[in-house]
Amino acid sequence: MTITERLVDSFGRVHTNLRICVTDRCNIRCFYCMPYEGVRFKPRRELLTFEEIERFVRVAARLGVTKLRITGGEPLVRSELPRLIAKLAAVPGIEDLAMTTNGMLLTQQAAALQQAGLQRLNISLDAMREETFERIARRRGLDQVLAGLAAARRQGFCRIRLNTVAIRGLTEEEIVPLATFALQHDLELRFIEFMPLDGERGWQKDLVLPGDEIRAHLEAEFGRLTPAERPDPSQPAVDYRLSNGGRIGLINPVSQPFCSDCNRLRITAEGQVRNCLFSTVEWDARAILRGGGSDDDVAALVRACVGAKKPGHGIDEPGFLRPQRAMFQIGG
Ligand code: SAM
Ligand code: SF4
Repeated sequence: MTITERLVDSFGRVHTNLRICVTDRCNIRCFYCMPYEGVRFKPRRELLTFEEIERFVRVAARLGVTKLRITGGEPLVRSELPRLIAKLAAVPGIEDLAMTTNGMLLTQQAAALQQAGLQRLNISLDAMREETFERIARRRGLDQVLAGLAAARRQGFCRIRLNTVAIRGLTEEEIVPLATFALQHDLELRFIEFMPLDGERGWQKDLVLPGDEIRAHLEAEFGRLTPAERPDPSQPAVDYRLSNGGRIGLINPVSQPFCSDCNRLRITAEGQVRNCLFSTVEWDARAILRGGGSDDDVAALVRACVGAKKPGHGIDEPGFLRPQRAMFQIGG
């Protein structure tokens, strides 16, 4: 496959990574993401079809995108998802196909996803205690997530990571149990700082549990953390090794933004292309895909989106504006 022109923004960042949101629906209601009630989901006809997503990805791959991550909402509530996975796995140029999921439906779907060509999984796991899980997710389900994780491990996915959103007042007690669990099962664990993308708009800076504090909790239990090698400079996590061999990542978008290395693009479930989680502008790929536009038109739109990318998210800047969309409507 010939790459026509790479997606380089005005700060020299080369975009090779696309996150695809396949639905805004979800089977739980994490307070840092979705409102508890009254969510108005997009009607099905507004979502990109699998064929439209595939076409968009073919164009993106022509522009140098090599890595895809399927996300949502909860991607596993989109029906027939393995059919999309199979289509994307077959796109020339795509080297890495991963998914982020809350794991609730993995017991039923892990096998079909892997057979369709899904390579890697990130499973969100915020707590090892049902009570904390429920306070965050506003639904029961920890056992179901753990069963889903076990099913994925049995299926032999090459790499499974656990993601934990760190919230002050809730996560402190979970840090050591989560790290112990990850160690026991030989899984990587990453803590992510809570970002101002919650649908209830309850985010406050003092609810962010910074990566440095998590590190201190871990060191008090496991001894000194040593920085691990960083094979991919655009990865958002700073990885550490524990003295007993485990690996822990800290993703600190609030306390230590990593925007200068960001190589990510996103497309929402209704086909709006975004150059940042915090973008307040979107580029309407669906209008082109459904309006008879050519692949070159799609490519031009993606280039325009990348070209307009700002140097950083600006959370700490005085004029910071939260995007209208919450995390579940963007695709985390
Ligand atoms: N439903 C799937 C899940 O939870 O894994 C995929 C979508 S979810 C929006 C993707 C990731 O974003 C999850 O790891 C979730 O914990 C994280 N996330 C959601 N809201 C967040 C926020 N406000 N700040 C930081 N991470 C957030
Ligand atoms: Fe659903 Fe994932 Fe958002 Fe939680 S973080 S409400 S699981 S989309």
